[in-house]
Amino acid sequence: MCAYTAPSVDTIKALETAPSMYLVLSPELFIITASNLYLDATQTERALIVGRYIFDAFPDNPDTSEANGVKNVKASLDEVLKTKMPHVMNVQRYDVPDTSNPGKFIYRYWDPSHTPVLDEHGEISYIIQLVNNVTDQMVLSKQLAESRFAQEESLLEVNELHNELGVSNQKLKELNVTLEELVQERTLALQKSEEKYRSLIQDSPVAMQVFRGENLTFEIVNDAMLKFLGKTNDIIGKPLIEGVPEIIGQPIVEVLTGVYRTGNSLEILAEEVFLERDGKMEAGYYDVIYRPLYDGEEITGVLGIAIDVTPQMKAQLATQESEIRFRTMAESSGILITTLGVNGEVDYLNKAWIAFSGLTISEFTTMVWTTMIHEDDLVHIGPIYKAALKNHVPFSIEFRLRNFEGIYRWIRLNGAPRFDSNNVYQGFICSGVDFTEEKEQLLKIAQINVALVQANQQLENANEALRRSEENLQSAFNAAELGSCSLDLKTGIAEMSARYRSLYGLPMQGEITWAMVIEALEPEFIDEVNLVMQNAMNYGTPVDSTYAIRHLVTGERRWMRVTGKVSVDEEGNFAQVYAVVMDVTVQKQDEQRKNDFIAMVSHELKTPLTSITGYAQVLHRMAKKAEETSTTGILEKMGLQVKKMSGMINGFLNVSRLESGKIRIDILQFDMHILIKEITEEFFTTTPGHQITYHGEGPITVLADRDKIGHVINNLISNAIKYSSATSAIDISCQVRSTDVLFSIKDQGIGVNSQDLTKLFDRYYRVQGTQTKTVSGFGIGLYLSAEIIQRHGGRIWAESEIGVGSTFYFTIPL
Ligand code: ADP
Repeated sequence: MCAYTAPSVDTIKALETAPSMYLVLSPELFIITASNLYLDATQTERALIVGRYIFDAFPDNPDTSEANGVKNVKASLDEVLKTKMPHVMNVQRYDVPDTSNPGKFIYRYWDPSHTPVLDEHGEISYIIQLVNNVTDQMVLSKQLAESRFAQEESLLEVNELHNELGVSNQKLKELNVTLEELVQERTLALQKSEEKYRSLIQDSPVAMQVFRGENLTFEIVNDAMLKFLGKTNDIIGKPLIEGVPEIIGQPIVEVLTGVYRTGNSLEILAEEVFLERDGKMEAGYYDVIYRPLYDGEEITGVLGIAIDVTPQMKAQLATQESEIRFRTMAESSGILITTLGVNGEVDYLNKAWIAFSGLTISEFTTMVWTTMIHEDDLVHIGPIYKAALKNHVPFSIEFRLRNFEGIYRWIRLNGAPRFDSNNVYQGFICSGVDFTEEKEQLLKIAQINVALVQANQQLENANEALRRSEENLQSAFNAAELGSCSLDLKTGIAEMSARYRSLYGLPMQGEITWAMVIEALEPEFIDEVNLVMQNAMNYGTPVDSTYAIRHLVTGERRWMRVTGKVSVDEEGNFAQVYAVVMDVTVQKQDEQRKNDFIAMVSHELKTPLTSITGYAQVLHRMAKKAEETSTTGILEKMGLQVKKMSGMINGFLNVSRLESGKIRIDILQFDMHILIKEITEEFFTTTPGHQITYHGEGPITVLADRDKIGHVINNLISNAIKYSSATSAIDISCQVRSTDVLFSIKDQGIGVNSQDLTKLFDRYYRVQGTQTKTVSGFGIGLYLSAEIIQRHGGRIWAESEIGVGSTFYFTIPL
């Protein structure tokens, strides 16, 4: 099995006892023998290992990953077997089994070498493994390495501290020469850092400078600082007061020197500095920072940094100035001005507030000022105010606020949120004005408005009622076949209902003029109707006129009765006639028949009455002759009654004549004064009871029908007698005026009420009453009088008071 030449016994012996550590291996790597020192070092016995495969005898320590000796030694041996040349290995960790502690290994480092011993054929006879136990050296070197590592670490720490650098460096030098290189590297790095530090200052956009030495020599001054100082870099190397001579006398010099001497850093914010720029002195504001610079423990210089805060300062000063202006303005203002902080707390209020509330500022800020607000208003404005403050939005509120007298005043308060230049919310500014008077006016207006609305509603209701009433009226008009019309007295233009138009045969559409109406009139009534219109226009006399027309279309003769009232315009002029018209043809025909009958009866009665009068006069004369006094008396009374009857019949005949247009007015010039005297004297004799007086002076010359005017005066006097007590006074007067003659007769009789007063002049109209019942009459006297006066172009009217008396008037134009 052994194809090699085993070493001789001597050789083995020699090897076993050699003063080195040998292991002799067969080319198959079985242990042939080991030197005693080897056995000692590996703590084994020869008998236990000889004949065993090397790696069975010396396996790897399974407990450490570092132990890979088997692999390395095998590689070395394989190399030797292949090359047949010796092979020296690096130091190996190759733990040896601990015989006193089975299963455990002893920590070991070796530096093995393998040397082949060749036979005469040049083949490997055996391999000698020479080892040295280098465990101790390895432990030492490891410790050394660890200590180096520790040193490096502390060095790094030390490096971080500038001032300890020198000390660390020195220590490191002492500890290990090799570390000097590192120190040098570090020094280099420091130099670099110094350069970096310089370039950092140099390139900084912030103005920076480094002074060195007691006299503060400019060492580094960056561009920003040069610009700040208004200098060029030739100041570098010069002391401060030489480089910037204008600084002499400024406090900054003291400050800088102080930093240098005391080592106390200094920061001055917004320092005002005057510097020469472009030959001019300029003020600016700078945040200036000075820090001492150390070399070891010694101060060697000062680092100066200047940050230009001029714009900010100017802005701040402007803000302060505006704040002062605001305060001055606010204090002198009568407006209530408050500022609120971010939490809504009052942080300022002006004098106007103090004057209004009577509170001091501290009272105001400590009290809950909302208690001054009227509780009814607080309910409304509270939520608005809170929401505005919460959402930082403007608000405007109106409320009653109690003043120093405890009186509520209306305040209009406007608030606007405040923001700083960075748009950060600062609170509110509020301004309030006392607008009580305005508010009261507004409230009044509101009340008036309400009243107006109500009035409007009432008006609407009234309009509606009016419309309905108009409808009703129209229906009534239609039912009564009445036509309605309004005539503008100025323009003569009439607005007419369809009924009115159809009654006259006027066009059913378009404008109707007074002339068109006149055209329909029977000619004999034109004057009368015009007179009625003139009276309406001049005196506002109500219209009541009955006349005949020819229908403009059919030509048929019809009787119309028009009644109307005159209305007055804003200037008090008679402006409009509102009238209704009815077709009275049938009534007129009936009346005509009646009148004809009365006329006929009156006429027929007149002849026998004349005979009776004649016979009575004959009988009277005969009885007088025969001196039959009783018969004479009876015949006298009979004569009076017959005269009365004849008067009545004449009245009827006159009415009949009037209606048929047979009454003629014969105008003559006469003295009215004489006429009145004649008539009154006749009454003195026939009616001695009444005290009839006439106060008039003649002559009163008029152009009129003497008989007819006499008839009117007669009628008025007999009425005054009839409707007053027997002994009462009757005053008659007649006076000439500018355009007419005015006759009046005043009695102290029963009087007439206002409703009857307008109707007295109507035909057959008699006032119904207990007092008038017993007085005989037919209601035609005043009717005839009125007709006569109207035909003279005059006017007749009456004024009266029940129980006091009446006055009747008429005029005749001169
Ligand atoms: P009569 O024949 O009824 O007196 P008149 O036409 O003369 O008729 O008068 C009409 C009515 O006017 C009278 O019935 C009477 O009621 C009233 N009247 C006339 N004159 C007077 C007067 N002087 N005082 C009171 N009433 C009068």
